[in-house]
Amino acid sequence: MLRQSLAILAFFAAANAMLAQTSLFVPRNYLKSYEQGTRSWDGKPGPNYWQNRSAYNISASIDPKTRRLSGEETITYFNNSPDTLKIVRFKLQHDRYRKGVQRSFDVAASDVSDEGTRIESLTFNGRVVDANDQNRSATFLDVSIKDTPLKPRSSATFSVRWSYTLPAAKGSARECVCDSTTFFVPYWYPQIAVYDDLNGWASHPYTGQQEFYHDFADYDVTIKMPAGFQVWATGEWQNARDILNPEYLSRWEKAHSSAAVISVFSEKELKAGWVYRNPKLPESAKLSGSSAPVSFRFKASDVPDFAFAASDHYNWDANSVVVDDKTGRRTFVSAAYNTTSTDYPQVAKIAADGIRLMSTWLPGYPFPYPVMTVFNGDDGMEYPMMCNDVSTAPRSPMTLTIHEISHTYFPFMMGINEQDHAWMDEGWAAFFDYLLSDSLSNHTEGGVRDYSAIAGTENDVPPMVKSRNLTTAYRNASYQRPSQAYFTLLDLLGYEKFHACMTEYMNRWKGKHPAPFDFFQTWNNASGQNLDWFWKPWFFDWGYPDLGIQGVIRDEAANCQVILVERKGNIPVPIHLEVEYADGSKETFHQTAAVWRDGKQNVRVACTEGKTVKTVLLGKTTIPDVDRGDNKWGKKG
Ligand SMILES: [Zn+2]
Repeated sequence: MLRQSLAILAFFAAANAMLAQTSLFVPRNYLKSYEQGTRSWDGKPGPNYWQNRSAYNISASIDPKTRRLSGEETITYFNNSPDTLKIVRFKLQHDRYRKGVQRSFDVAASDVSDEGTRIESLTFNGRVVDANDQNRSATFLDVSIKDTPLKPRSSATFSVRWSYTLPAAKGSARECVCDSTTFFVPYWYPQIAVYDDLNGWASHPYTGQQEFYHDFADYDVTIKMPAGFQVWATGEWQNARDILNPEYLSRWEKAHSSAAVISVFSEKELKAGWVYRNPKLPESAKLSGSSAPVSFRFKASDVPDFAFAASDHYNWDANSVVVDDKTGRRTFVSAAYNTTSTDYPQVAKIAADGIRLMSTWLPGYPFPYPVMTVFNGDDGMEYPMMCNDVSTAPRSPMTLTIHEISHTYFPFMMGINEQDHAWMDEGWAAFFDYLLSDSLSNHTEGGVRDYSAIAGTENDVPPMVKSRNLTTAYRNASYQRPSQAYFTLLDLLGYEKFHACMTEYMNRWKGKHPAPFDFFQTWNNASGQNLDWFWKPWFFDWGYPDLGIQGVIRDEAANCQVILVERKGNIPVPIHLEVEYADGSKETFHQTAAVWRDGKQNVRVACTEGKTVKTVLLGKTTIPDVDRGDNKWGKKG
């Protein structure tokens, strides 16, 4: 009897402990990961956490005349899951251009083809995969391996030969046939999709809207281009010594330890044929069809994707920056650009200065990559160690450069499932681009994306709704609202605690796939406070931020005036008051969003004893407020 009671008590204690972990709504599918120990309630990866990985060995080439990309790859895939895999899912992201495939945005009809990616051959562990075992749907290719399934903790190899034609129309999202001899190439190789503990095989195709979710992998990639082209790519360039003439090799090497920007080569030098050991073939040889292609080899480890770019007439600036003061480790930072892009000569320096601030201030974590290249394409788009950034001239390239590079942390170093939780990555990039640009430019360049105008409308969907389910509400839920939540969080915790939480989050989940509750619980755990009261309205609830000044009253006993601030909206934001007194003096009062933690509706802010308040202004740019009509009190003049 006693034993039974104890057992019952123990059961309730355990159940209570589970419920006490969070007051947030945890979807049932997440509970499974706690039961199975792949994730844990304190926000750490669980004792049974696993993720799969790949090693890619790829050779590819582009024929600039036809824009045809041809490649072959060998992939070694490691199944670290406890499951036996009967299919392996490939992503063929270029199939967004295959006829009949679902797309978030229109593409030019001239870029659409019946076949999309042409799979020329496919083998599994050396054996040809029968056509019946290949199932194409949306942007996926499922390869059935049911006869010889992939057991837990074992590996397999796939070899694929493929080709497709690069989309040429202007506005091909995130990739670029920038001109007839300049290419930015992502989404280009058959890549194994993520199989994870939360959802099994990733099931959201690439439609053009939601971006990354890839496993970490090692890449050894060789890109072959006609003579006269330079290739930039994810990873470290392995064979510069074989390709560059001594003068240019020496500039490239010098830039690896130079804080000052060095021109590796200019358009003029590249076109004149001085840069490369293999001189350009004479016109006669080209006409006869012979060519001497050059192979550029790159290696990168532990990255979730690989992109490359090529041009025969771009300028190349480079410098480097210390990203870890403890070890002196540097990152080699480049800008590759068209001579007509008048903002681009600033980009290599801005990029290096930004990376330094990212490493030391926000997020305040050593930049993880040895290389970063900002390539003058036609978009604002990040890839590991590469950006496809349009020229912003005559405006400054500051914010765009900082934004795209800051994505290195989220979703790359932290392998966010951005297709489901874009706020875990775009929200941070929007937060970083404002604060870092503002700091680097002496407060002339930073811009906050406006949340107030959309907040509380039907299009202000709580960020916890999966990104893949959003269309018109996607941007606000991914950028505006979460970035404002992060501003509020920084203010709430103060830099030291904020930085400690960020560092703990990164230490725990670097190179892994954190999901929303891993983020919430880690910050609760590392800050030593339960922030559920903050996460819930900002990420789970419908609503809006709105504070107002109810009035200014006199507190006779304290001989001061008191400003009454009312919380009219459910989303908690700081109280920031700028007060001007009748004697012309000014005073600023600030209280973090923590004043609303216990559900208060009103806050009294006491002014300086003996002074008479003339005007009060409530709010500032990083504090959203849907109705600023009641944020002023008193009259100027
Ligand atoms: Zn972004």
